[in-house]
Amino acid sequence: MSIKITNDCINCGACEPECPNKAIYEGGKKWRMSDGTSLKKGSNINYDPTLFNNPIKNNIYFIIKEKCTECIGFYDEPQCIEICPVNCCILDKKNIETKKDLINKKLFLHG
Ligand code: SF4
Ligand code: SF4
Repeated sequence: MSIKITNDCINCGACEPECPNKAIYEGGKKWRMSDGTSLKKGSNINYDPTLFNNPIKNNIYFIIKEKCTECIGFYDEPQCIEICPVNCCILDKKNIETKKDLINKKLFLHG
């Protein structure tokens, strides 16, 4: 499952550079599927991954669930959970994914 950031986030920014998929964005920032991935316009998908999307949160950092793989393929543990000083990166139980799903997501994002 993906990780989510709770309202306890203190906007320290420590998690953002640690994410291997660039799935974490500062509040108020627009995000793209192509950021930090190998997705390109014309990839075998029915949308343009280089288009910017509106922020999900404006006041705290947020995670794009379609880009979070629990760090599978890069690290043994979710890096945002490891580094967050206030433990506000937690498993998102509304977005359950198996290890196989996460491996496939990683392959989709990075080819
Ligand atoms: Fe990024 Fe890993 Fe955190 Fe998911 S678990 S948001 S892939 S750092
Ligand atoms: Fe927020 Fe934790 Fe990320 Fe800092 S490390 S920006 S507190 S989620």
